[in-house]
Amino acid sequence: MDELDGGRDREEDHDQHGDYRIETRSIHAGQEPDPETGALMTPIHANSTYEQDAPGDHRGYEYSRTGNPTRTDLEENLASLENADYGRAFSSGMASINTVLNLLSAGDHVVTGNDVYGGTHRIFTQVYEEYDLEFSFVDMTDLEAIEAAFREETKLLWLETPTNPLMSIVDIEGAAEIAHANDALCAIDNTFATPYLQRPLELGADIVSHSLTKYLGGHSDVVGGALLTNDADLDDRFGFYQNAVGATPGPFECFLVLRGTKTLPVRMDRHCENARALAEWLAEHPDVDRVYYPGLESHPGHEIAREQMDDFGGMLSFELDASLEEASKVVSSTEVFTLAESLGGVESLIEQPAPMTHAAIPREERLEAGLSDGLIRVSVGIEHADDLTADLESAIDAVLS
Ligand SMILES: *Cc1c(COP(=O)(O)O)cnc(C)c1O
Repeated sequence: MDELDGGRDREEDHDQHGDYRIETRSIHAGQEPDPETGALMTPIHANSTYEQDAPGDHRGYEYSRTGNPTRTDLEENLASLENADYGRAFSSGMASINTVLNLLSAGDHVVTGNDVYGGTHRIFTQVYEEYDLEFSFVDMTDLEAIEAAFREETKLLWLETPTNPLMSIVDIEGAAEIAHANDALCAIDNTFATPYLQRPLELGADIVSHSLTKYLGGHSDVVGGALLTNDADLDDRFGFYQNAVGATPGPFECFLVLRGTKTLPVRMDRHCENARALAEWLAEHPDVDRVYYPGLESHPGHEIAREQMDDFGGMLSFELDASLEEASKVVSSTEVFTLAESLGGVESLIEQPAPMTHAAIPREERLEAGLSDGLIRVSVGIEHADDLTADLESAIDAVLS
């Protein structure tokens, strides 16, 4: 099924991306039965080096940091999902983000969101500011604020949408236009939406970054990252950094993610369906002040989300009319929802941003950003929706009534 491949050696297949739908490509792209044995599944090529027939005369692989066949299959599969010409896999989402920053030089400036993922904020401010990169953190829902933050030295616009934990929606097309008008690259962290729901390259982004740890892996059992692009030069540089820096995933990790992407479409459908049911139920709950889910018409980003996403995802947050301590008790009292950070697995997770994922932000600043003491974030899993609402109901009742 050559038409299904979207990897870096398949430029000629670019026009054929549309031939199969994402449900089919998620299963078949990048994956062929093993020519020798007929084995259906991509083997785990646990292997560091490769035989050469004569010096320099090899069959495409020399050393597994540089390239590994299991990784190649994953890279082709991920590229196909994002309708990208090129894909590169990394050892974590942070390694992917680091690789994009490797493109920059001392003195360059980056415009990014004031609510980016905590690890992204940390690598920007605690690693790369030391190397004389500069960062401006702005409200990405405001295109004028993005534009105003650009300077002569701005080389990169880095954004996420939906964001964490308030699920703010950024207009990808509008943001990419601003970046390009200023000769900067536009990179989107598409971890929350996944390519099943949102394909930023089609909306003008230059680079898509993923934490494979979340929905693409999907089973909370692997850490990985990826970069996708249609630009051959960028892809060459990403390949150079894979080899030169060495933050590449092992073949077992690649195998696990390939196993995950096969069910991405069915999982995402259920994540979205359950999240919608939960959001609607929470919106009616007397102890809930506010629900942040882009699928609700009350969400300020609803209209843009409808335009740039195929559905609204499995992440939502809600504000309980409760103190920090009461909300802590609620998130500790659920039985189906597990109290844990992270997201995107089949199982539902619950967390309280104030003392957990966003604990590093001083309280005043946190409240100003709209992250109240009673804010609770859930990664809605694919269990039965009725069990999820019943679980939240009894946890809330146990503490607040
Ligand atoms: C988890 C996450 C990352 C970091 O990915 P790791 O695989 O944990 O390194 C980056 N961005 C977003 C939006 C994430 O949720």
